[in-house]
Amino acid sequence: MSETYNIAIDGPAGAGKSTIARAVAAKLGFVYVDTGALYRAMAVCFLRKGISQDDEAQIAAACRDIQIDIRYEDGAQQVFLNGENVTGLIREEEVGKMASASSVYAPVRRKLLNLQRNLAQTANVIMDGRDIGTCVLPDAQTKIYLTASSHVRALRRYRELAEKGLTCNLQEIEQDIIERDYRDMHREIAPLKQAEDAVYVDTSDMTVAQVIDCIIQAARERGLKEN
Ligand code: C5P
Repeated sequence: MSETYNIAIDGPAGAGKSTIARAVAAKLGFVYVDTGALYRAMAVCFLRKGISQDDEAQIAAACRDIQIDIRYEDGAQQVFLNGENVTGLIREEEVGKMASASSVYAPVRRKLLNLQRNLAQTANVIMDGRDIGTCVLPDAQTKIYLTASSHVRALRRYRELAEKGLTCNLQEIEQDIIERDYRDMHREIAPLKQAEDAVYVDTSDMTVAQVIDCIIQAARERGLKEN
């Protein structure tokens, strides 16, 4: 089998990684892998078992019985927890909080590593997360570190929720984003940081179209051949 082409996108919460990665995948005919969804699926399991986010021993024990799988239906990623499609549950606020808290533990991260690597070996992927360029796919041909100021990221999230008719508080959202960033950047295992060979893209003052072009350009400069 010929070598696959991998694009790794890392960055903090709300930087626009999923919007951008999905669009780039569609343009290039790549598979989009949203790795945050995998941590969220594991979080669903911990919440159902009533495990506290601080209880590392119970989280580690629960990991032994968890099987996470990804499948694609009409191009959209579906995540399975022990055979059950939990894609519709993982965007809940409390699932996001549990995912952020539990992703610091080694058994959680270990559980997902091979799944992510196998996906990247079998298809051309654009994979987004926090540790893709640094840990999961250190040999990815193109690595992007996508970020924006915490204020801009909070505003985007605020507008997203407001569009859904949900009431929310901008200051609280920004505070939550700052806390998640801190946790992701300061954890012992696979912290969020820019890979040495990653292209730094600050999207604060960029349109979605500009960011997409920037990533495709970076991939072309790094050997991407389009059909
Ligand atoms: O990106 P998303 O918000 O869906 O990710 C949920 C949580 O999973 C994040 O807050 C982050 O702590 C964790 N995560 C991670 N490594 C990844 C992807 C997500 O630690 N590669």
